[in-house]
Amino acid sequence: MKPLAENAVIGIIGGGQLGRMSALAAAALGYRAHIFAPKGDAPATDIANAATRADYTDTEALKTFAQAVDSIICEFENVPVEAMDFLAQHRPVCPGSAALQCAQHRLNEKDKARALGIPTPRYVAVNDATSLAEALAEFGGGILKTCRLGYDGKGQLRLDAGSDAATAFASLQSDDLILEEFINFTAEVSFLVARAHDGTLATWAPSLNQHRGGILHSTEAPAPEAIITPKLKKIGSEAAGALAENLDLRGVLAVEMFVASDGQLLFNEIAPRPHNSFHWTIEGAETSQFSQLIRIAAGLPLGSTEAIGHWRMTNILGEDLARLNEALSETGTYIHRYGKAEARTGRKMAHLNQRLKN
Ligand code: AMP
Repeated sequence: MKPLAENAVIGIIGGGQLGRMSALAAAALGYRAHIFAPKGDAPATDIANAATRADYTDTEALKTFAQAVDSIICEFENVPVEAMDFLAQHRPVCPGSAALQCAQHRLNEKDKARALGIPTPRYVAVNDATSLAEALAEFGGGILKTCRLGYDGKGQLRLDAGSDAATAFASLQSDDLILEEFINFTAEVSFLVARAHDGTLATWAPSLNQHRGGILHSTEAPAPEAIITPKLKKIGSEAAGALAENLDLRGVLAVEMFVASDGQLLFNEIAPRPHNSFHWTIEGAETSQFSQLIRIAAGLPLGSTEAIGHWRMTNILGEDLARLNEALSETGTYIHRYGKAEARTGRKMAHLNQRLKN
């Protein structure tokens, strides 16, 4: 792809914080941002050059948007695949159809990982209370998840072998479910890979993640070698690269994994977009995940993914806003607010990147 000239327009599908940070990265590289997002709070639009507020199914709006931009990225993996396919007829798009399709369904993700030889927890499709009862007996309990649209621990239920299958099945209000074996993991880790239009790959140092109540609380990066050994780092990075290649991904792909008690890395899920656990790369890497995505969309060469020091990224939820006042007087702490209109409990409002050591 020929590099885009200064002031070219990057179209961003989705109007949340990932779109906002992508738009900031676009500006730093001399590009303008045009956001496409449905009506509602869309903090990315505050700092973009233009915004289209329409549904992802509005073909007329998608067409006008495509004509107004030079290249398109996606900050949200649940955009209808048909919308992205339509846009791809007009402009280069990231991450591409195969990656979106895979990431939108938990069974697809795990089947894909298995097909590539990447170990996963045991899992089985659940479509009714009977199949759930059988699966619970086989796995001795597990985590029941909706296959589509779950995020931040929503749409999932921890069950034990004796749980009532009919009640559990009814409570998730879907017949497209997956039961996964419960993994007693020693750590949660994520890997991030960038893949350019010509197939070049680059990976960042992995992130060690702490969740609270199903929501990412904080990330330490690069993940300490005592936990993510060089061998595990290699295995995880290669798995991320293999997934990106197999899905013909353009852009960035995050892969979440568990370290099981026997030391094995087990695949959990993918996200074909910038990922919360790599927000530390804004100050903590030579090229941030957002800047890299813009480089790819613009046809520029990939930047170095080398880490600069050690970092802790902490999410600030609606109930944590007071923490931002303390951060204002801390040296080595970088504040990133998202400009959301309303602070709600459990809603991601900002994050802090703290330098731990150089
Ligand atoms: P997910 O939406 O799949 O990322 O799940 C949210 C969080 O639930 C994960 O980050 C884990 O902390 C936990 N979790 C999900 N799946 C499993 C599993 N199979 N075994 C143990 N914990 C899990």
